[in-house]
Amino acid sequence: MKLNTNWHLKNKMPQNPTLDERIKWHIKHAKNCLCRPIPEKLLAEIKKRGI
Ligand SMILES: [Zn+2]
Repeated sequence: MKLNTNWHLKNKMPQNPTLDERIKWHIKHAKNCLCRPIPEKLLAEIKKRGI
């Protein structure tokens, strides 16, 4: 697992993220960094939406 510090500095999670914002953040995050996996709850929601 490698933390992409640069990406994290440029892509901060909003203070009170909506589900949509969390999903978008995690999709981008997964493409750029591997420090933590997408939570299962979000993963299920992403699959449901077919993203
Ligand atoms: Zn990360």
